[in-house]
Amino acid sequence: MWNHILVNPWNKLPENFTVDLQQLDDGQAIDKRAYPDLQAMMDDAHAQGLSPMICSSYRAPEKQEYLFDDKIRRCEEQGYSKDEACKVAATWVALPGTSEHQTGLALDIVSSNNQTLEKEQENTPEQQWLINNSYKYGFILRYPSDKSNITGISYEPWHYRYVGREAAKIIHDRGICLEEYLDSLKSVSKQN
Ligand SMILES: [Zn+2]
Repeated sequence: MWNHILVNPWNKLPENFTVDLQQLDDGQAIDKRAYPDLQAMMDDAHAQGLSPMICSSYRAPEKQEYLFDDKIRRCEEQGYSKDEACKVAATWVALPGTSEHQTGLALDIVSSNNQTLEKEQENTPEQQWLINNSYKYGFILRYPSDKSNITGISYEPWHYRYVGREAAKIIHDRGICLEEYLDSLKSVSKQN
């Protein structure tokens, strides 16, 4: 299914991947098919008096390349060797071709009142609402704190991924991550 595509450090996006984008405000963009649910989620958040802000969304391959190289450079500035810097960078920024942002199904959403991509983001009213309600609109918090060993990505209480409402509810209710959900589907189909 299009919204079940798995992109992580071990699963690269196919070379020929394309996506039909819906442009949003401020140069952001998302897969057209996920747009109605996103709009509903943002409308409902605003109706609660919250101010969520999309600060990152679809990323072209060149942009991901740039971000990764930039993170390596900053790690080297902190004193890491080139090899170490690559490894550390890869835990924070996905290698080009392995970022969910390249699918058009991932969004970084922050509070307008606290736009930092730090752990504290989880304490904002906007994240509290999104963490508890985004699944109703087909989005999951993609990188939970206790799943880093499976997702390959450190805790990110701002990165949401569209998987569709049915999958999002199961993932939310079971407290699993996308990798675990997709694995559970595989084992079900093997039994059949
Ligand atoms: Zn992200």
